[in-house]
Amino acid sequence: MRGLLLLGALLMASCGGPPAHGTFSALTANAGDAGALCAHQVPAEACTRCEPSRAASFKKVGDWCGPHEVPESQCHACHPDLSFEPLPEAPPGADQRAVPREVALTGLAGATAPGKVTVVDFWAVWCVPCRRTAGELNLRLAHDPGLAVRKIQVADWDDPLAVKYLAGTPELPLLVVFDAQGAEVGRVKGHRPAELDALLAKARQ
Ligand SMILES: [Zn+2]
Ligand SMILES: [Zn+2]
Repeated sequence: MRGLLLLGALLMASCGGPPAHGTFSALTANAGDAGALCAHQVPAEACTRCEPSRAASFKKVGDWCGPHEVPESQCHACHPDLSFEPLPEAPPGADQRAVPREVALTGLAGATAPGKVTVVDFWAVWCVPCRRTAGELNLRLAHDPGLAVRKIQVADWDDPLAVKYLAGTPELPLLVVFDAQGAEVGRVKGHRPAELDALLAKARQ
């Protein structure tokens, strides 16, 4: 929880507003998977401006931006990156799946796909750039049958997975790229598609 509070502080700092910001909950993102956006560019099923009675559930979990009077997870003013537009989809049969927590905790070697270049993607539901990176990975999966993507979801910075793998990583997502022999080629911190492509090229050399 401390990690989430810290994240909240960082969000607050990046917003430059008074100390009245909250933390991202999954409430908005979960509704986003269900479908349409409203006029506020928010999942219609979650928008508190369309349906003010929903605000209470967001406030209850601390997902609230005081200055803008919307959930933090819906505040485009504080988070210009925020987007709920549909992502490019991975093709059917793409080699993409979640790594079970117990496997991830034993090491990343067990997460790689033998014979393929593997990208291990550490992400969190409160991470805005993670969503954009997921879309970029889907695009690459669509064009590259030799690519595998393995997802590791972290709850917060105190999550044992974060303690094990994200020390010294200031931002998510963290992508760890492995070559087809399972050797680590490099890491990308944050949403940086060009860096990812450079590492994918290196993994094939
Ligand atoms: Zn709305
Ligand atoms: Zn705001």
